[in-house]
Parts: sequence; structure tokens; C-alpha cells
Amino acid sequence: MGMQRGTGRRRARTSWLAALALLVLHICAFASAATAQAPLRLTPGDSSFPLSPSLTYWHDAQASAGVTQAFQRAEAGQFAPLPDGNPAFGFQTGAYWFYLPIENAQPDETRWLLVQEYALSDSLDLFLRYPDGHIEHQAGGDHVPFEDRFIRYRYPNFRLDLPPGQRVELLFRVQSESSMQVPLVLYTPKAFAELMRDAQFSTGLYYGIVLALLCYNFVLWVMLRDAGYFWYLLHTAAFGLVLFTLNGYGFEYFWPNWPWMADAAVPLSICLALIGMQQFSRSFLDLRERWPVGNRVSLALIGLFVLLGIASVWLPYSTSTPLASRMVLLGVLWIIVSAIVMLRRGYRPARLFLLAWSLFLAGTAAFTLLAFGILPRNFWTHNGVQIGSALEMLLLSLALGSRYAGLRNENIRIVQETNEKLERSVIDRTRQLRTAMAQLGEANVQLREYSRRDPLTGVFNRRHFHEALREAMQARGIDGKPLALLLLDLDHFKQINDAYGHLAGDDCLNAVARCLEEVAQPRGGLAARFGGEEFVLVLPGADAQAALQAAEAVRLRIQQQCVESQGHSIRLSASIGVHTIDGGQNVSPEDAIRLADEALYRAKHEGRNCVRHSISVA
Ligand code: GH3
Ligand code: MG
Ligand code: MG
Repeated sequence: MGMQRGTGRRRARTSWLAALALLVLHICAFASAATAQAPLRLTPGDSSFPLSPSLTYWHDAQASAGVTQAFQRAEAGQFAPLPDGNPAFGFQTGAYWFYLPIENAQPDETRWLLVQEYALSDSLDLFLRYPDGHIEHQAGGDHVPFEDRFIRYRYPNFRLDLPPGQRVELLFRVQSESSMQVPLVLYTPKAFAELMRDAQFSTGLYYGIVLALLCYNFVLWVMLRDAGYFWYLLHTAAFGLVLFTLNGYGFEYFWPNWPWMADAAVPLSICLALIGMQQFSRSFLDLRERWPVGNRVSLALIGLFVLLGIASVWLPYSTSTPLASRMVLLGVLWIIVSAIVMLRRGYRPARLFLLAWSLFLAGTAAFTLLAFGILPRNFWTHNGVQIGSALEMLLLSLALGSRYAGLRNENIRIVQETNEKLERSVIDRTRQLRTAMAQLGEANVQLREYSRRDPLTGVFNRRHFHEALREAMQARGIDGKPLALLLLDLDHFKQINDAYGHLAGDDCLNAVARCLEEVAQPRGGLAARFGGEEFVLVLPGADAQAALQAAEAVRLRIQQQCVESQGHSIRLSASIGVHTIDGGQNVSPEDAIRLADEALYRAKHEGRNCVRHSISVA
């Protein structure tokens, strides 16, 4: 540093003479030309000087001029001030030369730093001409490897030795496929260190947020496997890459020795981010299901972005980058339109989504309005894109979470609803089943009843009679009461059939069955058809007297009634055999039937239409 100052002072001493000589020379040689450009004085008190207000420039359209020629033109006053002091010219061909004489009025600051605060310029050449006439050259830009930078910083930078009091001429040549921007600023080393500190903090904060969101959502994607998270990751990563590239970090960290990539990375990453955000919007808003027309528009846009991405590998940077930048506006506007449409269709997750993209658009708009000089330069406008996009990514992550929660709640609701439906249908089915069972039970009872009844007469059939007799005899064994059995056979029934026909015979059988029931019911007895024109009557608790009385009652009823059938009045008679079992007696059902049958046989033999008791045989 001491040596630097020493040489600076020596130069300062000689420079007065040299400057004087030069001045005379200039006045003589270019008397007709404009007066020499006034130098920028680096006055004490300021530690940074933006050069744009003082720079003059010349557009070398063929990019053919050499440094000597450029200096000559500058001296001849053929350089013009920057239009409105604005250092941005848009996309240009050829080379731009910028000229500025500088006079350092700060004796303590001999070393300065010139920073080109735009990361994407291809070739930068700085020429410094000292009063003694020697010219120093430094090259920069992203077509020169990153290590060659004076300070390893995202913006190209150059070291300037400015001896105090000397007039040093600065000539800066820029040739680039990217937009022609020369926001040159001169810093003292201290001012630059402070600037770097602030810049590093805010960029660290921004990329820290991006990285944290990426990691967080990556984990969520791995856990939940929801496609929305994947597209969010793609969008966020690609958008982070866009800013990383635009800020010069891409060249610094990712491809420091790959100048081709420095150019192609901008449109490529923009296209990737566009595809990511369109896909994310499509999947988040569920356009395929909910708005097929919008879905098709989104797909068409994605197709366009893919084509542009592929084309940007071959297209000149000056064509692909502005095209891709305009597509960002188109893409974001379409997303906002889709979100509004979905919101109006009552899709609740679209609210947070819309807010996120609106913030992004607002931030970008603030930055753009700053560029056009409509908004003042402050922290919010200068970092509009970063703030807007950080909030956007944060809110989108939140929106994803809330959408997921919404889906989960919806699922729970559906499961609950299904369960309730299932329960209701189970209850319905159970009720139906119960009714069916009851009907079946009734049918079963009826069937059992049918199986016990004689189809012609409706009295019990022979099978049931056997069961009932066995049960009655068992009961009798327990309670010790008597039991009577009456066996009845119609007299000469064959003749009735023959005389009046079988149908009339059937009617007669029915009439006899009624007579039997009429006698059985009040006595708690059971009437059954034994077979053909034979009937039985079981009278539990009936002793011989009661049994004979009942038999006589039956016989009389049959004899007295007149069966009207097939136009005939038919008279009938019956013979009845009675067997009674006393309380203490122990007889089998078969024996009881046999004994009653024998009594009946006797009744037949003894003239029919009469009652005989088995006792009298024994
Ligand atoms: P008896 O006084 O000796 O008993 O004379 P009977 O004619 O009744 O003699 P038998 O017992 O041999 O005849 C029974 C007749 O009853 C024979 C048959 O034609 C008639 N029969 C049996 N079952 C039915 C029936 O279900 N319907 C009709 N209509 N007739 C029947
Ligand atoms: Mg018979
Ligand atoms: Mg008979």
C-alpha cells in the first residue's frame, strides 16, 4: 500500500506537467472540436460514485475500433452523454465504448474498485490511460473465467489505481449478447466491503428461504407423494436458479469455466421455471377435473415453454432472453386468471394461491416500475422480485399444506358419510331380514299346521293324532288323570259314494268332521281323520262315562244331520268304538288304538249306528 502511494505521488508530480502539455495539445489540435470532457472528481466525503451521470459513450456498430481509435474519438468529443443518464441500452450488436476522465481528490484513497453491477455481460475491457500516456488493460465479463476476477464477486470488478490529483482517463468497452447495461460504480475498498456484507446477508437470507422451502417440501413430497409438491419443487428450484443466474451466482458457483452456459442459463432456467409453475398451477387448481378448457390452455402454454426452452439452446441470447422474460408475464397472468376462475367456481384452496401469485406479480411490478423510474429506489422496490417471490414461495407452500389438509378433511368426511350410509343400509337390511324371518316363521307355523291337518276335512291328520296321543298319554302318566279314545267309522259309506258320487261323499266326510269338532272342542279333546271314512277323538281327562256320553253325542249329531250335496239330501250314521284308560292303568298307544278298534268292530257287528265300549269286552 505504501509503495502504491509512493508511485501515486510521483505520478501526481509529473502529471501536472503532462496534463498541461496535453491541454495545450488538445486546444491546438482540436480547436474546432468540443471542449474536453470535465473529469469526475472523487471528492472527499464520498466513498462510492455511480459513473452513469458522467459517462459518455460511443456505439462502435462494427465492433472494429481499437483502443487508440476510441481514445481519439473521446478526445475529439465524439462520445455522447448517456441518454437521460440511463446506463441500459437493451439488446444491441457491436461494441459500446464508455469514456470518463477521473480525478481523485482523496489523497488517502489511491486504490479504488470499479464494479459493473450487471452480471451477464459477456466481454468487458477496461483501459486506464495515465498522464504519462501508458495504458493499463483489464478484461472481465462472463466470457472470462471466474477466477480471473479481481475480487471473486458475482459482479465483474476491476482494480483502479488512481494517484491523487492526477487525471486518469477511463475507457470501458462492452460487447455482449445479453442486454447492454453498464451500471458502473466506483467504490473505495471499505465501501465495497460494507456493500458486500449487506448484500451477502440479504442474498443469504433469500436463498436460505428458498433452500429451506425446497428441503421442507421435498420431505413432504417424499412422505405424501402428492404430485403438487413435485411441481412446486420444480417451480421453486427453477425460479431460484433464474435469480441465481441473473445475480451472477450461477457463473460464480455452478459454471465458472463455462461461458456458453452463462448465456444459455438465463432463458433455459426461465423456461424451466415457467413449465414448473404452469404444471404446479394445473395440478394445484385441479384444472383437469374442474376446468378442462383452462387445463387445455395451460397445456398449450407448457408446450410453448418447452419449445422455447429447446429453441433457446440455438437461438441467440438476445432473442431468447427477452422472449422468455415476456413469457413470464404471460404465464403469471394466466395463472392469476385460472386462480380467479377457480375461486369464482367456489374452489377454496385457490384463495391463498391467488394471494401468493399476486404478491409475486406485485414485487415484480415494483421492480419494473423502479426500472422505468416511476417508483423511487428503496429497499422494497430494489428487492421487489426477491421479496415478492420469497413471499410467493412461502404462501404457495402454505397453500399446498392447507389444500392437503382440506383434501384429508374431505376424505374423512367421505369416509364418515360412507360409514353412516353403510350403517343405515345395515339397519335397513336387518329390518328387512327380521320381517322376512317373521314371515318365514309364520309360513313355517302355517306349514307345520298344514302338515298336521287333513287337507279334505281340516281336522288333524293321522300322524299328528299319533303324536298327540303319545303326548296325552305321557301327561296322563304324570297327572294320573284318565284318557278316552273314540274310533269312528261311517256306516255303509261305500254305498253313499256309489249312490251320490265321490264329491258328495267328500262333503259328507267334511260334515262328520264338523260334528266331531263340535263335540271335541268344549271337552278339550282332539279330533283327527284316521284314514278313509274313519275318525278318532282323543279326550284327555274323560272317564268311561264322559267318554260314552261324548260318543253318544257324536253319533246323534251324525245321525240327525242331513248333508246337502250335489242336489241330494244325504243321511249318515256312524259306529263308534270307545276305549278309556283309567288313572293307574299303563297301556301303550298301540294297544289303546287296537282296543278301541275292537270295540268299533263290535259296534259294526251289533247293528251299526251305535257306541261300544272296550271295557265290556274285557
Ligand atoms: P261298513 O258299514 O262295513 O263300514 O261299510 P262301508 O261301505 O263303509 O265299508 P268300507 O269301510 O269297506 O268302505 C269304505 C269306503 O269309504 C270305501 C271308499 O269308497 C270310501 N272312502 C274312503 N275314503 C274316502 C274319501 O276320501 N272320499 C270318499 N268320497 N269316499 C271315501
Ligand atoms: Mg272303513
Ligand atoms: Mg265304513
